[in-house]
Amino acid sequence: MKNYILLSLIGLMLTACSKSVNKSPDLIIHNATVYTVDADRSVHEAIAISDGVISSIGENADLLGAKGEHTQVIDAKGAFVIPGLIEGHGHFSGLGQSLMNLNFLKSKSWDEIVAMVAERVKHTEKGEWIIGRGWHQEKWSETPHDHIHGYPRHFDLSKIAPDNPVMLTHASGHGLIANKLAMDVAGITVETANPIGGEIVRDDQGNAIGVFEERAQEIIRNAYNYYLKDQSDEQKIKEWHDGVALAQKECLENGITSFQDAGARFHEVDRYREMAQTGKFDIRLWSMLRHSSKDMDGNVSKYRTIDEGDGYFTCRAIKTEVDGALGSFGAWLLEPYDDKENFVGQNTTEISEVEKIAEIALRNDMQLCVHAIGDRANREVLDIMEKSYGETDKKDLRWRIEHSQHLHPDDIPRFGSLGVIASMQGIHCTSDAPFVEKRLGRQRAKEGAYPWRAIVDSGGVVTNGTDAPVEDVSAIESYYATVTRKRIDNGFEFFPENSLTRDEALYSYTMANAYAAKEEQDKGSLEVGKYGDITILSKNWIECSEEAILDTKILYTIVGGEVKYQNETE
Ligand SMILES: [Zn+2]
Repeated sequence: MKNYILLSLIGLMLTACSKSVNKSPDLIIHNATVYTVDADRSVHEAIAISDGVISSIGENADLLGAKGEHTQVIDAKGAFVIPGLIEGHGHFSGLGQSLMNLNFLKSKSWDEIVAMVAERVKHTEKGEWIIGRGWHQEKWSETPHDHIHGYPRHFDLSKIAPDNPVMLTHASGHGLIANKLAMDVAGITVETANPIGGEIVRDDQGNAIGVFEERAQEIIRNAYNYYLKDQSDEQKIKEWHDGVALAQKECLENGITSFQDAGARFHEVDRYREMAQTGKFDIRLWSMLRHSSKDMDGNVSKYRTIDEGDGYFTCRAIKTEVDGALGSFGAWLLEPYDDKENFVGQNTTEISEVEKIAEIALRNDMQLCVHAIGDRANREVLDIMEKSYGETDKKDLRWRIEHSQHLHPDDIPRFGSLGVIASMQGIHCTSDAPFVEKRLGRQRAKEGAYPWRAIVDSGGVVTNGTDAPVEDVSAIESYYATVTRKRIDNGFEFFPENSLTRDEALYSYTMANAYAAKEEQDKGSLEVGKYGDITILSKNWIECSEEAILDTKILYTIVGGEVKYQNETE
């Protein structure tokens, strides 16, 4: 017995010693305002990280006292230290691709876009496709001289690129414009019928004007994919990896430490897994699997992945969509559009198919994430989710409606009461503001457009993000939009009574996003034991003036305790 006690004592001493040997942290950030986003919203001066996780938080003197020979020390000079920002809904490989192609997010007119394509034509061989993304007819300073319903016709593009098929995707991703050669290659004629769930926009004579909405895009995309067929597999894989590398860099420069990817194919999940296993990720990725019910049935369990490569890749959700976007008249509404007579939008995936996917999600313990923009789309999805929740004794499903953008007032409290997460994007509100009232009329816009205040007040969880590459991946403008609902260019305010407070908005970008991915035990707040994922901002987002938010610089992006980005100009 004595020996046993003695051995135990020696054991205890040994553990104590070995702990003190390892005690000095790998990284200490001091002289900071550490806004933890923990339950008490505690604020501290310093934070330390050991072996990739947060080891202590507290006062400067205490933490610096533990500094060792190999500890990296960052003097934050009073900067604002927050949990690493989580992009709550974006398209990761799509962001990568958009960084390699023409990007029109900042373009102010159709002429500007045509000029950018003309420039690209000079450096492109005949026959090669020219790809771009990000145009939005409602966001230009002037309407194109030659237009139909505000959409440009293809003639300018066809003139400057007679020998290159051109395909330019709408900012929303729910439409595209093609030039004549692209349409010829795709076999478009006056006789080509609209596919179900899509529209080929035509002039009075029935000629395609170049714009393809929703499912009609596939006709042009298929032609492009056919062209890509000649690319070798190595070429394709290399291009994909080049894009993903650019996407990671873009995220780090914008303070994003985790990214929720709204739709990955089987082969992409395979590639992400391999990247995680071989340490190729600089940020953490959480992907939703996206396939038809037919393709997924029996396959999902093979792709379900949790915390691969020490928490760098997870695929535990399935994505589908029931409608399109408001800008391209794709949002599925309960009542017709105010600016398109008798038209209620597009139901892009049959409800019976969504139900099948819900069943697959339930059976495989995957979260279900359904894109729904219009009030009809949201109601249909809430109904499906309510039914599924009722049919299972699994609690904690945390199913999500991606965008939850336009809601009937009756449906707003259902998010809280059912426990369905409203996966929203602050920036979409101010970005779309110029045309929302036009499409929906004042009443619907006031009562149910981007109603994040009302969802939170009725007990729902609201997340945040940018839908990149639909919008720029920067959280700064999205955060500003969330707390002001004010446009940056002209100060136009979109029903500011639906704003979130500074703290709620920061929560939406950190803890709420972590919760929406079932990752709140590892991320979303700065607490001992969680990942050392940290973003350092030049402005205090809780206390600075509204305008100062827009001057924010990302100073550091730290993932797993490693500095992955440092702003050299500051
Ligand atoms: Zn999206």
